[in-house]
Amino acid sequence: MFLELTEEQRMIKDTLRKFMDREIIPLANEYEQERKIITRDILKKLEPFGYVGAEIPEEAGGFGLDTVTYCLMVEELGRAWGALRTMVTVSNLVTSLIYKFGTKEQRERFLQPLIHLDYLGAFALTEPNVGSDASSVETIARRDGDDYILNGTKTLITNGSIADVICVFATVDRQKGAKGITAFLVEKDKATYLTSDIPKMGMHSSVVSEVVFEDCRIPASNRLGEEGEGLKIALSGLNVGRCIVAFGVIGIAQACVDAAIRYATERRQFGRPIGSFQLIQATITDMVMELDAARLLAFRAASMVDRGVKCSLEASLAKLYATEATLRIANKAIQVHGGYGYTQEYPVERYFRDARHLTMAEGTSEIQRLIIGRELLGLSAFV
Ligand SMILES: Cc1cc2nc3c(=O)[nH]c(=O)nc-3n(C[C@H](O)[C@H](O)[C@H](O)COP(=O)(O)OP(=O)(O)OC[C@H]3O[C@@H](n4cnc5c(N)ncnc54)[C@H](O)[C@@H]3O)c2cc1C
Repeated sequence: MFLELTEEQRMIKDTLRKFMDREIIPLANEYEQERKIITRDILKKLEPFGYVGAEIPEEAGGFGLDTVTYCLMVEELGRAWGALRTMVTVSNLVTSLIYKFGTKEQRERFLQPLIHLDYLGAFALTEPNVGSDASSVETIARRDGDDYILNGTKTLITNGSIADVICVFATVDRQKGAKGITAFLVEKDKATYLTSDIPKMGMHSSVVSEVVFEDCRIPASNRLGEEGEGLKIALSGLNVGRCIVAFGVIGIAQACVDAAIRYATERRQFGRPIGSFQLIQATITDMVMELDAARLLAFRAASMVDRGVKCSLEASLAKLYATEATLRIANKAIQVHGGYGYTQEYPVERYFRDARHLTMAEGTSEIQRLIIGRELLGLSAFV
């Protein structure tokens, strides 16, 4: 097994790191502290790099990137600003679903504005009563002539209140269970629905929203895929999604390590840099060991996606380990900073808060363990 980045991947990573340091990180600190929502101008700065439409072939107007390369880009964005990373990768997910399952007309209408970050996408699966068990969607879609009428509530939706297009999962027939779930593209300026943002622990510059549909009428031409294909569509990108979350959080872990090393060499106590004390060195060593292990697991999973090899086990292992390890790494980064680590003078308290939700996204840690258990034992803990 050869674990080396190609020359091109190294160049992309290098270019992005410099760009993030110069253009994005200074904004991240200011916006997060002042709780300002990321503007379209900031999103637009990412347009040339291919953060949205990454894996869509160039001839279809995308960037034609492989999964490993995209994940490396996501790591650099995650290192810079968790909130921006989550906004952009959710929009990329919706863009890929439209590319994969959309009609010619839907592709023509939505792909270019999304790829150029003129539109922002949201992915609305979770509901007040529907979380880990995605197959029990309660939002109803009733056919009415050339339209569907949506009724129901989605919650914890990234970009929910600001997205131009929301990919909403609703059931056309509750009796059919998972087989009734259907995907719809709901456009902000053409449909009527209510949104409210939910205050949260971190990532203050992005929104998660409740989205309420009350007799929300959308044209049948906005159905994505066939009736009953919704769950298949929602779960179609899960392995890639888990790799993306893993690399996003690895970016945060890298930021923690960088900050801890910087602080340990600058801060002096007992007449010496604290980094010269063995216990601080041990702490930083453990952080780097876990970061490296997470990166290797994630690299393996992403390269399996690129090779078309089945990788549910490896993607879940990578996602589970990277998200859990990053919480330990961020916690240690705060400890290395002493009391200042708990203040907003240094970014490490933000890294911890920004990473915290990622043990929930794309399947919680418990669900990852059940998937891994099922792969290893051949026995499913799910009913
Ligand atoms: C910041 C943020 C952004 C989000 N963005 C989106 C988004 O854009 N779109 C979207 O659709 N959703 C989004 N979500 C929702 C997220 O996907 C859900 O939180 C996640 O799927 C878990 O669902 P839940 O919160 O309802 O928890 P539940 O499913 O109610 O789980 C609660 C607890 O029970 C555990 N549990 C559940 N089932 C089992 C089981 N069988 N065995 C053992 N333990 C179990 C879980 O692991 C968890 O610890 C977001 C959440 C957050 C926090």
